Amino acid sequence: MIMMEEMSKELPSEVVESGRQPYRMLVVDDDLQICRFVSRVAKDLGIEATLISDSRAVVDADSRLRSDLIMLDLGMPGLDGVEVLRSLADARCKAAICLFSGACPEVIEGAVEIGRELGLQMASPLPKPLNVGKITAVLREHKGEYEDAGPTAGDLKDAIRMGRIRPHYQPKIELSSGRTIGVEVLARWEDEKTGFIPPSIFIALAEESGLIEALTACIAQRAFKDLSGLEGGGQELGLALNLSPLLLTDVRYPDRLLDWARAEGISPGRVTLEITESEAMKDRSRCLDTLVRFRLKGFHLSVDDFGTGFSSLSHLYSLPFEEIKIDRTFVADLGRKAGAETIVKAIVDLGKGLGLSVVAEGVEDAQTAELLVRLGCDVAQGYYFCRPQELHGLRSFIGKNELTPSFVSTVLATAPSSPSPRSRSSRRSGA
Ligand code: C2E
Ligand code: CA
Ligand code: CA
Repeated sequence: MIMMEEMSKELPSEVVESGRQPYRMLVVDDDLQICRFVSRVAKDLGIEATLISDSRAVVDADSRLRSDLIMLDLGMPGLDGVEVLRSLADARCKAAICLFSGACPEVIEGAVEIGRELGLQMASPLPKPLNVGKITAVLREHKGEYEDAGPTAGDLKDAIRMGRIRPHYQPKIELSSGRTIGVEVLARWEDEKTGFIPPSIFIALAEESGLIEALTACIAQRAFKDLSGLEGGGQELGLALNLSPLLLTDVRYPDRLLDWARAEGISPGRVTLEITESEAMKDRSRCLDTLVRFRLKGFHLSVDDFGTGFSSLSHLYSLPFEEIKIDRTFVADLGRKAGAETIVKAIVDLGKGLGLSVVAEGVEDAQTAELLVRLGCDVAQGYYFCRPQELHGLRSFIGKNELTPSFVSTVLATAPSSPSPRSRSSRRSGA
């Protein structure tokens, strides 16, 4: 529950709900009795239904776009079911569509096929006559899928406010010595209501819903507090924070991060900001402005997930990065897929050539660590060394690793020596 006051300052009063409203359905049938019957069954399952008995009204109805499920009769006067499907496709309707009809199975299947070809999300159709069992089964299936679709922006906002998004820490190991030189801060959300939610889900949700600033504030402030006094081998540990590229559009962000770091006595020179290049960085001059200001304040910058997505070579020398993190998909393939070693070697050489520090993530076994030592990689992290841990787990890893750096005796002792990264001229040092 720490720093709730600071956090709530970051929380926007409104969040973009990313389309996760209560489940809604639309029933379209010229027979109002059937509409009402479906609606009663839906109500028993807690679903609010909108009813339309004149199919021509569907074309303009707002409810067609707000619904999660549309139950649509095929044979209707006015517009028939297939014409309604076309109008839904024209309106880019995203709802699941369940056709029901007394027509023969070939006609129903033909209509489903047309809907699919129009790009609509067609559910299994229901033959008439309808009964409670058939309708309940369809609604349960679709509402269940909808509810399993994960947390909403409202859930995330509550979790941030209640301090339920917490940092875990994964050690970064200097390959030349086996020492822990820093940690990467990774956000974790484990909720009584929803269970463990992977960062890939909630970070994307935070970015879509305008909560990424609040989430980053909560993680950064907590990590600064946790790590302010922590040492590895007598030296202060580096601290790597993941920063959404969306935050780069805020040119004042470096000042805020500096304030949070100073409040906990953390020097910005201990902090590396890991940024995955993305489309969000297309406003290049604004991003460059923010990146340069981070550097002027003393923070370090790292290109995350290098080799994937939008990461481009031109950014490496035109933007003020000091470190590359080789994407873990390449690291995972080392020794398994032909070509992975060539790619990793090329990235290491590229980084060295540009005076950048090179970090490999996702190291899961000794062979991979040994290969990275041979390729000249500076720093590594991964399950082989240590999984992301809560603070007490991190402390105990650091303590044990200092006494017996197992990596040094098992891997470094057998690997041919590689020059120490600190002996080379490098744009930076540390984590
Ligand atoms: P990332 O920055 O690439 O983080 C590394 C991911 O690799 C983490 O996944 C980590 O748990 C995982 N990992 C570490 N070692 C191994 C290994 O040996 N094997 C395998 N298979 N995986 C390993 P995680 O924690 O699920 O995070 C996923 C992504 O979510 C991160 O990828 C990062 O992009 C994002 N993320 C996490 N926390 C934050 C945050 O506070 N802010 C922002 N903006 N993004 C975050
Ligand atoms: Ca990262
Ligand atoms: Ca990565």
